[in-house]
Amino acid sequence: MSTTIPLRAETPVADRFEPADFDDAELADLNVEFERLPASKIIQWAVDSFGPYLCVAASMQDALLIDLAVKIEPGIEVVFIDTGYHFPETMETVERVRRHYGLNLRILTVAPHNEELWKVDPANCCSAVKVGQLDRALAGKAGWMSGLRREEAATRANAPIVARDLRGLIKVNPIATWTHDDAQSYIHEHGVPYNPLLDQGYPSIGCMPCTSKVAPGEDPRSGRWAGRDKTECGLHEA
Ligand code: SF4
Repeated sequence: MSTTIPLRAETPVADRFEPADFDDAELADLNVEFERLPASKIIQWAVDSFGPYLCVAASMQDALLIDLAVKIEPGIEVVFIDTGYHFPETMETVERVRRHYGLNLRILTVAPHNEELWKVDPANCCSAVKVGQLDRALAGKAGWMSGLRREEAATRANAPIVARDLRGLIKVNPIATWTHDDAQSYIHEHGVPYNPLLDQGYPSIGCMPCTSKVAPGEDPRSGRWAGRDKTECGLHEA
């Protein structure tokens, strides 16, 4: 009597991918190397290291990092946190960018919450709305990329290009070394979609109740939480 040995089903490629991990010494070496590499090479390293366990966190101020990332990996997951407080122009930009690139876009929508929280306790509002949703977006991921640039604010001046975040994930800032002029040149040369509010006196765009116009020559981030001590939402501290 003959027995038939069942063939083992093929394991899907995504399930076979093992994301890389790096210790602190390796991250330090990578930071030295990345300081002199173009953003495209840094993104390529992130895609090769983390594969499907990598995403891009997008604020939709512009699609610069998205443009760079989809040229390396067209199907890369892009996450956007819909706080419920965005300008209509920002939500229109989300849809325009999605269509422009045919994005693999994941929008995290915040459940209805106390509408006045941003007024009475902005720290708690950002923590609950933005950081909490980012935690949700990054569940199951090994790495993520952000469009943070050192020049944007004093609090970002020493930001590394690659680091371990508080969750233990690898956070990559491929354009950390870019200046404002570098970013603007790329956006205009490559026809990158951007938020129309940038041309209307808002050089840094967050939620509508916490973003004001900035006079020419003023600190671009002075319109964020104007009149308060707060300068960051916490996404880049987490
Ligand atoms: S930026 Fe303002 S409205 Fe948006 S999450 Fe933070 S405190 Fe709330």
